[in-house]
Amino acid sequence: MNIPLLDLKAQFKPLRAEILSAIESICDEQGFVLGPRVVAFEEAMARYTGARYAIGCASGSDALLLSLMALGVGHGDEVITVPFTFFATAGAISRLGAKPVFVDIQPDTFNLDSARLEQAITPRTKAIIPVHLFGQCADMAAINGIAKGKKIPVIEDACQAIGAAQNDVRAGVLGATGCFSFFPSKNLGGFGDGGMITTNDQALADSLSMLRVHGSRVRYLHEAIGINSRLDALQAVVLHIKLKYLDQWAEGRRRNAVRYEQLFKQAGLLDHVTLPAVHPSNFHVYNQYTIRVSRRDDLRAYLKEKGVGTEIYYPLPMHLQNCYKSLGYQKGSFPVSEQAAEQVLSLPIYAELSDDQLGYVVETIAQFYRRS
Ligand SMILES: *Cc1c(COP(=O)(O)O)cnc(C)c1O
Repeated sequence: MNIPLLDLKAQFKPLRAEILSAIESICDEQGFVLGPRVVAFEEAMARYTGARYAIGCASGSDALLLSLMALGVGHGDEVITVPFTFFATAGAISRLGAKPVFVDIQPDTFNLDSARLEQAITPRTKAIIPVHLFGQCADMAAINGIAKGKKIPVIEDACQAIGAAQNDVRAGVLGATGCFSFFPSKNLGGFGDGGMITTNDQALADSLSMLRVHGSRVRYLHEAIGINSRLDALQAVVLHIKLKYLDQWAEGRRRNAVRYEQLFKQAGLLDHVTLPAVHPSNFHVYNQYTIRVSRRDDLRAYLKEKGVGTEIYYPLPMHLQNCYKSLGYQKGSFPVSEQAAEQVLSLPIYAELSDDQLGYVVETIAQFYRRS
């Protein structure tokens, strides 16, 4: 059997006619950057997340960067985030001349450990960016509680968590801004790069709309130094169509997660495999189904040999990256993140997987631990 980590062709097949016809309309209209197609999708995203405003941009990385810009983060400021994330979270902070200050994660959810947050706050802390890693929200009640007392805005890195919720409130309205990515491998993936920022704050929404077009509200008049970061009409129509199916796909991912749990238990693998933990207040959308395993790299090689695609999100925490040597962290600075980096393995979880395929993945993992 051959089971890729993600099969976008399987997702595209039933939507082919609908998407191609929308793309044809854009070809006929010849309007490509921002414009009514993007506005329509922004409105749909606002409705979907429950936010008052949604502002399209060029990527999830830019959604983070623009959020920090709109909040006035710059040189000499500190922004707190986690070391166990995709690089973009930390990169956006550094791009603005601010300093990423890391706080370790919880071992079960892989998300920011709110018990360690307060001690990382200094008078220079200008924002906090919790990451909703793998599709499950960070503990926003605790994080917002601490941040509010100190009047520090919280930016959600919801790039992996579109449709996720905490206490029935969707990611994107759990902080000052919510940052989304439409990179093809996300739960709502475009045909290229794309991103979105959600907010309930009108002043922030205004700034974000200005900053994404070089700080201009009136053409050729610039009131701030912004960037060029816009969503295009082709992405918007594709994403707008796919948004209709997003909840159904999330249900498929959730069903597969339940199935994996049954199969791992039946196979007696729980000595070797730690399954994803879901906090009771969270609605998890499983952008990744990430387990912890013993002898991870050997298992991964074995799965590859047997046709099962996996990935390691993420093999090296931010504080140990070469580009962050100057921050002065060392091995041992964030032991929970470091251990996660050595043990995690993400398995195929996309909605179109069949029970047979899920069974094959688990059976192959069982074979690996039986034979060695
Ligand atoms: C994908 C991702 C980003 C960046 O999104 P891009 O659209 O690829 O720029 C940021 N943070 C996290 C946690 C992500 O998974």
